[in-house]
Parts: sequence; C-alpha cells; structure tokens
Amino acid sequence: MRSDPSEYEMASPGTLAGALDLLRHRPGGWLPVAGGTEIMVQYSAGRLGARRLLNLWGIQELREIAESDDSLRIGGGCTFSQLRKHPAVRDHFPLLAMAAAWTGSVANQNRATIAGNIVNASPAADSPPALLAYEAELELISAVGTRRIPYRDFHLGYKKTGLYPDELLLAIHLPKRFAGWFRYAQKTGTRNAQAISKICIAGIGKLRGDYVEALHIGIGAVAPTPLRLHKTESALLEVKITDASIRDALRVLASEISPIDDIRSSAEYRRQVAANLVEDLLRSFAESEQAI
Ligand SMILES: Cc1cc2nc3c(=O)[nH]c(=O)nc-3n(C[C@H](O)[C@H](O)[C@H](O)COP(=O)(O)OP(=O)(O)OC[C@H]3O[C@@H](n4cnc5c(N)ncnc54)[C@H](O)[C@@H]3O)c2cc1C
Repeated sequence: MRSDPSEYEMASPGTLAGALDLLRHRPGGWLPVAGGTEIMVQYSAGRLGARRLLNLWGIQELREIAESDDSLRIGGGCTFSQLRKHPAVRDHFPLLAMAAAWTGSVANQNRATIAGNIVNASPAADSPPALLAYEAELELISAVGTRRIPYRDFHLGYKKTGLYPDELLLAIHLPKRFAGWFRYAQKTGTRNAQAISKICIAGIGKLRGDYVEALHIGIGAVAPTPLRLHKTESALLEVKITDASIRDALRVLASEISPIDDIRSSAEYRRQVAANLVEDLLRSFAESEQAI
C-alpha cells in the first residue's frame, strides 16, 4: 500500500549543528535522509516505519573531501558521482572509485551517498568491500562530540550497526599507504547497471618476491554483513601462490563465508562464485608485476 505524505514530518535544519541538536533532543526519533535512494524505495512501498525525517541533503560539512599527506577524509554526505570523479579517490583508492561507478545508474550516483550505503548496512552494498580492503575508519558525531572506529567493527549483525541513535556518520578516513599494491575488484549481478550485487569483492595485496607479504580482501553478499576475509588471507601470508595454496585457501574460504538463498541468488551459487572470484584474484595477484 502506498504511503500517505500527510503522515510524515520532515525537518531540514541545513547545518550539521542543527541536525545534531534535533537528534540530541529525540535520539532515535528522527530518521536521517541523505540521498533518499534507500528510504524512498521503502516509502513508495509503504514500508517506511519512521514518521519524522531529518533531511541531511545539502549540509556542507558532510559533503567535503579533504586530502592530507597520509590520508583522505571523505564526508559522509559525498555522493558516488563525487567519489567516482575525485582525483584523489581515483589515484589513491581506485577500488572505491570503481565501486562508486558500479552503484546503480548515474542518476542514482548523483543522489546516493557513501554514508547512506554504509549505514543502510546491506551485506550486498558495493562500497563496503573496498572500504574493508583499505582499512577505513569511520568518524561518528553527536551533539557531545566525535569518535572514530575502524569500519570493520561497525557492522554488528544483519542490518545492525554500532551507530548510536543520536549519531551521524560524519566522515570516512582512508590511510594513504597502499600505493603500488596489487588491486582487484569485481561485481557480479544480473546486468551491469541498476543491479544489486550477487557478489562483490575488492582486494589489495603486496608480494615479497613470490611470497604474499600482505593481502586484504573485502567481500559482499556472502554473510549477514560485509566481510573481511581475515582467515582466508592468513592462510596465504608468507606463502607462495600455487595451485596447492589456492586450494587450501579456498577450503578456508568455504568455512569463512555463510551465504544465504534469497531473491537474487542461491547460497550454492554464491559459494561457487565467491570461490571463483577469490581464485581469480589470487591468480591475477601471482601474475601481477609485483612478482619479481
Ligand atoms: C535503482 C537503485 C539502484 C541501486 N543500486 C545500487 C548498487 O548497485 N549498489 C549499491 O550498493 N546500492 C545500490 N542502491 C542502494 C542505494 O542507492 C545506496 O545504498 C545508497 O548509497 C544509499 O545512499 P542514500 O544517501 O540515498 O541513503 P538514504 O536512503 O538517504 O539513507 C539510507 C540509510 O542511511 C542512513 N543515513 C544516511 N546518511 C547518514 C548519515 N550521514 N549518518 C547516519 N545515517 C545516515 C539513513 O537514515 C538510512 O537508514 C540502489 C538503489 C536504487 C533505488
């Protein structure tokens, strides 16, 4: 059943301080709306439970990207169009620029924000694998101050996050220490545009000679939350990538993921595709120019 607009109230404070003040007085009583691309789908389907909406669109403090010598700070309200075009994102964090370009259509990217993608907490969202691989940190803010947490600790369970009811996701911090690392990303879906991923993966790595010195793999749609494949990575550290070590790593992968059947895919299909993608990543890594 369609929603009745007269049942809803929307506040547009226009400033970060104004938004935080509203949240302070009624924690959990306002639903933040950034680009609205998730919320409008719920609204149109008559599934939007919240009645008080807090409009974040246009709040300048959420829209800025700042580069320092050792990191990039991306405001939570930056859209995927901003990210896909930004030179520092493209140069230092190309997997995030790719994820931005893969998120829905260009029209969607003009509205969809990175904070909306993270806080919506879909296990199949496109930006989390890159954020996990790049070891992003989140800066959360409430009227009483800010705190920073590693992104890997943000998702607590299916659609459950560590965000407090009076907080906003202010910014994402990415360390600039992966220059020259091998990189790999894939998204599998029913078609190229406008398709939610069946599986999305992003990985970066470094070889010492033929041996794996470092490997970070983020993957989506194979568990209740976006997942960093710590166990699979550990099985490969200080190891040469060979048919045998790939087989061992894929065995670990099978125990590390827990995909489900849903409308987009079966668990069995997701298991097979996840294994194929990790294998492809590892073979490309072994053949990359880093191998001396
Ligand atoms: C046609 C279509 C195609 C899509 N394709 C893709 C795709 O390919 N890949 C993909 O990953 N997603 C896709 N999406 C989903 C969606 O566009 C993204 O998840 C997007 O990033 C959501 O951002 P938003 O700003 O629109 O979020 P909103 O809808 O505004 O909000 C989503 C959630 O985030 C919260 N929120 C937003 N900003 C903040 C903040 N700063 N602090 C705290 N909470 C906040 C809101 O309260 C809400 O719970 C698609 C959606 C549509 C409609």
